[in-house]
Amino acid sequence: MRRARIGVLALQGDFAEHTAALREVGAQADPVKHPEDVAACDALVIPGGESTTIGRLCERFGVGDAIRDLHRRGAPLWGTCAGLILLAKEIVDSDQWRLGLLDAEVARNAFGRQVDSFEVDLPMQGVDDGPVRAVFIRAPYVTRVWGDTQVLATFEDKIVAVREHNLLGIAFHPELTDDRRVQQYFLSMLE
Ligand code: GLN
Repeated sequence: MRRARIGVLALQGDFAEHTAALREVGAQADPVKHPEDVAACDALVIPGGESTTIGRLCERFGVGDAIRDLHRRGAPLWGTCAGLILLAKEIVDSDQWRLGLLDAEVARNAFGRQVDSFEVDLPMQGVDDGPVRAVFIRAPYVTRVWGDTQVLATFEDKIVAVREHNLLGIAFHPELTDDRRVQQYFLSMLE
């Protein structure tokens, strides 16, 4: 069997870090930004960055439907931070462009100005051998889930990691630490 191709949506944000982190665990990962490149992937990461900018660029590059097709085919999709916002069906007080795939509502910049960025150790369901170091940067959190969406991690009662079948949404940035267990978890969704 050929190796799975992991695309990292490279329109804006920290796609280089995601690509490097996935390569560290032996995955074949490449930045993608055109619909035909997205369509050729077996799994896709939507990185952190600025969700309104990434959304605008998704429209400009016309990749939204290619990503929705991947989802329909059952390919694992993983959004971190801005990527989580773009996956969600509902965004509090926003009509910004989104993929709208994940049965969840998110609030942007939800931890408040005073705590722009911070790090904590969080246990995450499905990730063994202790908590993961979670780096939050102007992070959203999930305010509501429904349907088949499962909560994988919370911080102070706020939902910060979720999974719905082939969708993984994480409010923090595993690509910015040197722990690769969350990448391994995502790759296991290919099986
Ligand atoms: N605050 C950003 C947004 O709303 C997300 C921040 C991030 O991806 N680090 O899009």
